[in-house]
Amino acid sequence: MSDLAARISELKTEKNAIILVHNYQLPEVQDVGDIVGDSFGLAVSASQTDSDVIVFCGVRFMAESAAILNQDKIIIHPEPASLCPMAAMITADSLRELKARYPGVPVVSYVNTTAEVKAESDYCCTSSNAVKVVQSLHESKIIFTPDENLGKYVQRFVPEKGLILWPGYCDTHQNRVMVADLRALKEEHPDADVLVHPECTPEVIDFADFAYSTEGILKHCQSSQKAEFIVGTEREMTYRLRTELPHKKFYPIEKAICPNMKKINLEKVGASMENLAPRVELPRDIIEKAKIPLQRMVDIGRG
Ligand code: SF4
Repeated sequence: MSDLAARISELKTEKNAIILVHNYQLPEVQDVGDIVGDSFGLAVSASQTDSDVIVFCGVRFMAESAAILNQDKIIIHPEPASLCPMAAMITADSLRELKARYPGVPVVSYVNTTAEVKAESDYCCTSSNAVKVVQSLHESKIIFTPDENLGKYVQRFVPEKGLILWPGYCDTHQNRVMVADLRALKEEHPDADVLVHPECTPEVIDFADFAYSTEGILKHCQSSQKAEFIVGTEREMTYRLRTELPHKKFYPIEKAICPNMKKINLEKVGASMENLAPRVELPRDIIEKAKIPLQRMVDIGRG
């Protein structure tokens, strides 16, 4: 363990802090995490912890979700510039305009949204429960924002419903996970299952053997008889998979990087814990409104 990692471990005890780390974070950050997981798992952990301080290593919307679900805790985001571009693709104003065009139609927003957009939504979802959330609604028309690829994926499971989609996307999954990349890896590793994330394009999902959230990918690899897997999501997911399943083999797409997730490193984690800053603080009215769809997401559970 490095001196810095050892100091972070001391700080956890001194400050009664928990470090939550997303699967796409740098390996050095994953290694100091108390919990490493996907958006859903980390949101649940944030809502259940007894720690006084939550250090959230992920992009901003994830740290905001922790702040919304846990108002009596100090939420630290080690790098405020670590933002998700997809979350910036829809604003509260544009969602209000869309709602005005479809009065009475419920809004399901992917958790990759700002707190202000969540405050305008009826339900939140993650990629692990998007289908379950939409299936739980009685309405036949549903506004689904902001990830169009995830919306199209959900639509496959609910052909009886009409989803009104927003043209948002994740650059990493839309433009850095391509059929050609997967095909080349499959030619090299013909026995491997091809696993992709539902933020990928429909063509990529059609090519793959399975589409899952990142925790779904982990579960598949744990339970599968196979020993090799081609992983069509952000590259660092394979670090988590190798850590959990060292006897299996994982093949990432090397260019599938989310640069936003890489803005947090061990130095920033250490400095933020020494100073208990930068903190995530949101207006109380936004917290109160955003908590309703976010808590519904947690209550509905994984798909
Ligand atoms: S991988 Fe995509 S959706 Fe996830 S944080 Fe990065 S840009 Fe946003």
